[in-house]
Amino acid sequence: MKKIDQILQSQLNDIKEQGTFKEERVIETAQESEINVNGKKVLNFCANNYLGLANNSEIRKAAMQAIQEWGFGLGSVRFICGTQTIHKELEQSVSNFLKKDDTILYSSCFDANGGLFETILGEEDAVFSDELNHASIIDGIRLCKAQKYRYKNCDMEDLQEKLSNSDARVKLIVTDGVFSMDGTIAPVDLIVQLAKKYNALVMVDDCHATGFIGTNGKGSGEHCGVLDEVDIISSTFGKALGGASGGFISASKNIVDTLRQKSRPYLFSNSLAPALVVACLKALEIINNNKNLITKLHDNTLYFREQITEIGYEVKGDSHPIVPIMIYDAKQAVALSEMLLEKNIYVIPFSFPVVPKNQARIRVQLSSSHTLDQLKHSISAFKECGKSLNII
Ligand SMILES: *Cc1c(COP(=O)(O)O)cnc(C)c1O
Repeated sequence: MKKIDQILQSQLNDIKEQGTFKEERVIETAQESEINVNGKKVLNFCANNYLGLANNSEIRKAAMQAIQEWGFGLGSVRFICGTQTIHKELEQSVSNFLKKDDTILYSSCFDANGGLFETILGEEDAVFSDELNHASIIDGIRLCKAQKYRYKNCDMEDLQEKLSNSDARVKLIVTDGVFSMDGTIAPVDLIVQLAKKYNALVMVDDCHATGFIGTNGKGSGEHCGVLDEVDIISSTFGKALGGASGGFISASKNIVDTLRQKSRPYLFSNSLAPALVVACLKALEIINNNKNLITKLHDNTLYFREQITEIGYEVKGDSHPIVPIMIYDAKQAVALSEMLLEKNIYVIPFSFPVVPKNQARIRVQLSSSHTLDQLKHSISAFKECGKSLNII
C-alpha cells in the first residue's frame, strides 16, 4: 500500500470508531415521497424535494424536449460558445422572480458562493458572516481578501457591534436565509435595518427557501417583507426548483456583470446542460402559476409540527418544512432512526460534528407531495418507536 493509502486508511478507521462514518444508502427508484431502499418501499422524509418537483411529469417532458431541440451538452464555458437562448431566458426568469436586475448561472450554489466574495470584495472591504452559514459561504469568504467578521447565529446585537466597529469601504452582511440544521428563518428584516443604519449590503443564501418560503415562494426576503432590500441572493436549482442541479446569483447589474468577467467557477467551468436549463424554466413556471404547491407544503408542515409536538417530542425551528426533532443523545437518535426504518419511515439522524455535542436530532423534511395518510403513518410510527425507546 502506498504511504497516502496507509495514512488515509487510519483516518477512515478513526472516523468509523467515532461513529460518524457516513454510509450512503442506495435508492432504487426515482426521487419521490415513496421510494425503494434495499428492495423495500419506504416513506421518504429527508429529501430537499420540498415541492415534489424532482420527478414531476411536466418537468421531465420539458427536459426530454430540450434534449431533442438543444442537444445533450455544450462542451464549453459560457463566454466561448456555451450560452444558448435558453440560458439567457432562465437568467431573465430568475431575475423577474426575485425582482433583481440580473442573474448569473453556476453549476451549483456551492460554486456560486465560492465565486462571489473574492470577485467583488477587496482588502478595503469587510464581510460579516453568520457563524452557522453554509460551508460554501465559509469557503468563499476564505478565498477573499476582505476583513472577516463572524457574528453569533442570528444575534443582531453581536452583528451591530461588529458593524459599528468597522470603517471598511464596503460592508457586506452574509446570511443563510434558512439554517438547515435548525429549521430557522434568518431575521432578514432586522438584518436589513442594521444594513441601512451602517450603510452595508445584504447577501442571503436562500437554498432552503427559494420556491416555497414567502407567500409566493420568493424566499426569506419575501417572508420578512424586505425582498427588494436584499442586495444579493444566491440559491440553488438542486432543492425545491426541481432538485437536479445548478445554482445562481441574482443582484444589481454591476455585480452580475463583474461576476461574468471575473468569477472563477463561472469562467472556468462548463455551462449548465440544456435539459437542466429548460427543466428549471418549467419549474419556475409551475411555481409561478400554481400556488397550491406552496399552500400544501405549508399545511403539511403545520400538521406535522403540531402532531409531533402533541405526541411528546420537542422540535426546533420556525414554520419551516425542516423539522428538527430533538433527541439530544446521539446513540438514541440512531436507534430511533433505525427503528423507524423498520416501520418504513426513512429519516436521518444528525449528531456531532454536524450539530453541537449532545444536540443530536432527527431531521424530518416535509414535501407538498406527502399525503395526509403518509403524514399520519409517520406520526404513529414516531409515537410507537419513541415510546418503546423511552424518548417520549
Ligand atoms: C444546499 C446548499 C448549498 C449548495 O447548493 P448546491 O447547488 O447543491 O451546490 C449552498 N448553500 C446552502 C445554504 C445550501 O443549503
